[in-house]
Amino acid sequence: MYGLPVAAGPRDCPTRPATAPEAAPSIALTLSTSGFYDTHAHLDYPDFKADFDQMLERARAAGITRIISIGTDLDSSRRAIALADRHEMIYAVAGWHPSHAHEAPDDLRDALRGLAKHPKVVALGETGLDYHWLPSRKPAGTTADDERHKLKQADLFRQHLEVAAETGLNVVIHQRDSFDDTLAQLKPFADRVRGVFHCFGENVERMRQVMQLNSLVSFTGIVTFKNGQTVRDTTAAAPADRFMLETDCPYLAPVPYRGKRCEPAFVKEISEVVAQARGCSREELSAITCATAGSFFPKLRQG
Ligand SMILES: [Zn+2]
Repeated sequence: MYGLPVAAGPRDCPTRPATAPEAAPSIALTLSTSGFYDTHAHLDYPDFKADFDQMLERARAAGITRIISIGTDLDSSRRAIALADRHEMIYAVAGWHPSHAHEAPDDLRDALRGLAKHPKVVALGETGLDYHWLPSRKPAGTTADDERHKLKQADLFRQHLEVAAETGLNVVIHQRDSFDDTLAQLKPFADRVRGVFHCFGENVERMRQVMQLNSLVSFTGIVTFKNGQTVRDTTAAAPADRFMLETDCPYLAPVPYRGKRCEPAFVKEISEVVAQARGCSREELSAITCATAGSFFPKLRQG
């Protein structure tokens, strides 16, 4: 639990005398409204099977009020939706991750249209381009395989963007070593679809390029890493209405949990570092990041 800001005390409230007996509950209410959302988690992964309910309990105790579980293929998306059906605080994003592009059907669009109808599917993804893990990194892979893989990724990314434009949803974007190509592919859709460049680890200039396309970024536990100064600088420079917070769990646990399994409760540690980098309070950070998530994910009910 973080400290109460001085101004939140009942003595500073002009409409309520300091001696009013109901003053204490109003403090609790002030605190409970400054929660955070984990806008990118993979709750359907087997990593959470053994302690799922306790993991959600720890998230609630840490002030996390919404978790968006991101699909990485159709089965994973369906599992994310099933979790959203069972738990009020969980929402889902449906899509096919670029790293698994080679396993995807040629045409995903009908499946995406179907999943997009679910009331708790708040965006499509994660989709995009990943040039880091290409087939030629494996012994049997060739550069011709790389080219085929890149073409398939680009085709699937375009399909997500098309269905997003049709359905009025936005997209959750994964890019790795492919920044320029990802922006170029998003650009023709930028008047209809916004993207969140998740797990953003780039510099301020690149963040501005994302924002020129009316898109936004989200920050993970990388902001807490010793070698994370670039992204801390980006965090400090981000316009108040253009960024969100996420864990990308089970990956990327923030300090002091680095190297362990990550979970949604750790948005708390991320929020502390982001608030410090921006020179604002956690209450203010809560208000701006939750408002941004509410406008980016139109079906997300604020809480
Ligand atoms: Zn992810």
